[in-house]
Amino acid sequence: MRQIDHFIAGQFTAGTTGKSFEKRSPLDNTAIARIAEGGRAEVDAAVAAARAALDGEWGRMPTAARVDLLYAVADGITRRFDDFVEAEMADTGQPAHVMEHVFIPRGAANFKVFADVVKNVPTEAFRMDTTDGKGALNYAIRAPKGVIGVISPWNAPFLLMTWKVGPALACGNTVVVKPSEETPNTAALLGEVMNAVGIPEGVYNVVNGFGPESAGEYITRHPGIDAITFTGETRTGTAIMKAAAEGTRDVSFEMGGKNAGIVFADCDFDAAVEGIFRSAFLNTGQVCLGTERVYVERPIFDRFVAALKAKAEAVRFGRPRDSGADYGPLISREHQQKVLSYYRRAVEEGATVVTGGGIPELADDLVEGNWVQPTIWTGLSETATVVREEIFGPCCHIRPFDGEDEVVALANDTDYGLATTIWTTNLTRAHRMAERVDVGITWINSWFLRDLRTAFGGSKQSGIGREGGVHSLEFYTELRNVCVKL
Ligand code: NAD
Repeated sequence: MRQIDHFIAGQFTAGTTGKSFEKRSPLDNTAIARIAEGGRAEVDAAVAAARAALDGEWGRMPTAARVDLLYAVADGITRRFDDFVEAEMADTGQPAHVMEHVFIPRGAANFKVFADVVKNVPTEAFRMDTTDGKGALNYAIRAPKGVIGVISPWNAPFLLMTWKVGPALACGNTVVVKPSEETPNTAALLGEVMNAVGIPEGVYNVVNGFGPESAGEYITRHPGIDAITFTGETRTGTAIMKAAAEGTRDVSFEMGGKNAGIVFADCDFDAAVEGIFRSAFLNTGQVCLGTERVYVERPIFDRFVAALKAKAEAVRFGRPRDSGADYGPLISREHQQKVLSYYRRAVEEGATVVTGGGIPELADDLVEGNWVQPTIWTGLSETATVVREEIFGPCCHIRPFDGEDEVVALANDTDYGLATTIWTTNLTRAHRMAERVDVGITWINSWFLRDLRTAFGGSKQSGIGREGGVHSLEFYTELRNVCVKL
């Protein structure tokens, strides 16, 4: 069984708590790793190392040299591509091709893209008049914010963690990362890459553990943490915001969603079915941007439900490298039980189960895994629990609608506002809808098509702030104005 330690000041260490916990495989629930659990002492040490790096070589490093190092990190990830794929697969149980084509390449890209942003994005300058006629020049400089606390989730662990670490380091900060207790593997591996390419010690630190009364909470409460970036559940965000209030630290939150997919009768039907299918079932539904509410214009409703059902029933369960397997288990037994309880709740509240609703029949070598069937419901009211709450599983409710006004009202009737995917061939309508649906990210005739230079984040309870491209600079730097009398 693998031992996974903290990574503090460039060294792997088990820490001093003497506590550890097991990581179980989503595929069969056997223990695959033992992880050191950090306490206050480990967080103190990580924050001290991060502060020392800011005061040392890293803090003095010219931008060009820092940017070169971040390119080296990306290349280092690519050199160890297979190790990252294996590590992420072991933690999540998801198909190899998703790791190989999306999650790990995106992790490497997160270092290059933000290195480029920092290198190329200018700051503002204003020439002003003064009463003596000589004038003054204002210009802005960006300074790193300091030590950034990075709290990340388990659903796309490496992609989501590096999405924060990349820009934080590009801007000259140092980080203390707390990966999800479910997925510590790739954060540790990244420590090896950091050392191999010569990132100074203390720039990138990882403390493993849980949230409340463990490493997560200790990081967010630590007075040496200057700002906190978090991806995870909305209620966790609420707890972290309270912690951040002490010391009025800045936060950037990417949180839950209950995203609507909207399909108009004039859509490219096959493309819409494929798009909604991916958005509901990719990564076994464990995607914050995923679609759990589908609204289909009435003339194509029955045909659409039948087509989605056929695709959901054709998914191939299997181990990550099984030939043809395109569907993995849920992350943990606990999450499987949570999703199954929503499946039961849907039936109690009167859903018509179009397909799924339970645990699939599986080969002997898979029965101990955290599998659930891809599930589609119809017939529920908008007040039903599974229509209102984020389930984070492979399921969706489909409801017919008549006209734009009705579907806009339905889509916006939620506490969340992360993303939507809209399917229509009417260009004018597409633009109109994009203005009317209250979310941070709108996809037209697509889903999960990401340009890392664009703003990413949610409205309402889906988030606070935006990251991506120049927007990440807003969070990871302090913009200072300098006024020079001429
Ligand atoms: P979670 O909130 O349970 O945990 C996320 C992280 O926070 C973990 O590292 C956890 O240990 C830590 N944590 C928990 N309580 C804490 C506390 N009190 N103080 C400090 N840290 C604490 O979320 P999860 O189950 O890991 O991830 C799934 C959730 O993440 C879903 O709601 C999903 O929508 C959301 N998510 C959002 C985005 C986005 O970009 N908006 C992306 C991915 C996932």
